[in-house]
Amino acid sequence: PREWRLAARPTGWPTAEDFELAGSEVPDLADGQVRVRNVVLSVDPYMRGRMSAAKSYAEPYAVGEAMTGGAVGVVEESRADGVEVGQHVLHALGWREVAVLDAAQARVVDVDAAPASAYLGVLGMTGLTAYAGLTRVAALREGDVVFVSGAAGAVGGAVGQIAKALGASRVVGSAGSPEKVRHLTKDLGFDAAFSYRDRPVRESLREAAPDGVDVYFDNVGGDHLEAAVGSLRRDGRIAVCGMISVYNDTEPAPGPRNLSRLIQTRGRIEGFLVGDHSDLAGEYAQRAAGWLADGSLSLRETTVDGFEHAVDAFLGVMRGENTGKMVVRL
Ligand code: NDP
Repeated sequence: PREWRLAARPTGWPTAEDFELAGSEVPDLADGQVRVRNVVLSVDPYMRGRMSAAKSYAEPYAVGEAMTGGAVGVVEESRADGVEVGQHVLHALGWREVAVLDAAQARVVDVDAAPASAYLGVLGMTGLTAYAGLTRVAALREGDVVFVSGAAGAVGGAVGQIAKALGASRVVGSAGSPEKVRHLTKDLGFDAAFSYRDRPVRESLREAAPDGVDVYFDNVGGDHLEAAVGSLRRDGRIAVCGMISVYNDTEPAPGPRNLSRLIQTRGRIEGFLVGDHSDLAGEYAQRAAGWLADGSLSLRETTVDGFEHAVDAFLGVMRGENTGKMVVRL
């Protein structure tokens, strides 16, 4: 079997040369371990951070070693009680075809209830990110006007749909192409959407939310954040989930120039990490199942086929080639 390794630490935008496809060793199982053949891999923006040496919330990848990330695979051999051959498990040893790991680090998932990829997206980490950010960090209230950037992506699409399901009065999204903008209003039920490439975000947001926004769910940072601060209503809340517009910057980007608006609006900006909100996972799983069943949450994904194309898929996420969760099918 093969694995993807980090070959070099990129400065600025990563390229294919920063990765290496190599053969991998598959050790014999110790007690309590399982061998898993991966069927679907996650590629996520946070992996860009792990390619750099700088200390962050996730450990940097080691140069010359296999990378890690979310994956679902089928158990081929088990020396663990409670995990049987043929079952599917969610685990963190992605970026390789075959993984050997402690069963305690894996969770059995039901691929009859939902496709394997859903556990990497709407029923997994990205869905919980949307739910925790909205309900806990942004303290969403019925009737709120919600703005989300990166709205046609995995987290953003879930944010818009969940906000509607929880009673937001108006949901506005921004994304990077006319097709994505159409997808937001036609398929995902957004009340308004715009492309951030057309005009300054500030102008488009003013038009899409003329009375301002109560909640801004930030996936992008930069101009988007400044525009949201500019449109914030009294007691507005900004949940900072990600800032993908700066992940490949080589110099720190300037911050919003209008933060003094937080005083008059009594506004609040708070960053968060999904890992700190795993106590909401059970509650979210239950509600998400209901929303999937009644159609208020839909499962849009972009699938790249072939293990050898995993890097293309990852670079594609950074470039916006995905609508919904980007996954790699093996
Ligand atoms: P997405 O599926 O949203 O993919 C990333 C998207 O970002 C692309 O599709 C692209 O869409 C958009 N994008 C890329 N560059 C820019 C730019 N310069 N300006 C605006 N948009 C850009 O990824 P995820 O849903 O997995 O992640 C979304 C965000 O959430 C990321 O910032 C990520 O780091 C963060 N995150 C944070 C977590 C946490 O715990 N805090 C957990 C999970 C994710 P487009 O075509 O619209 O440009």
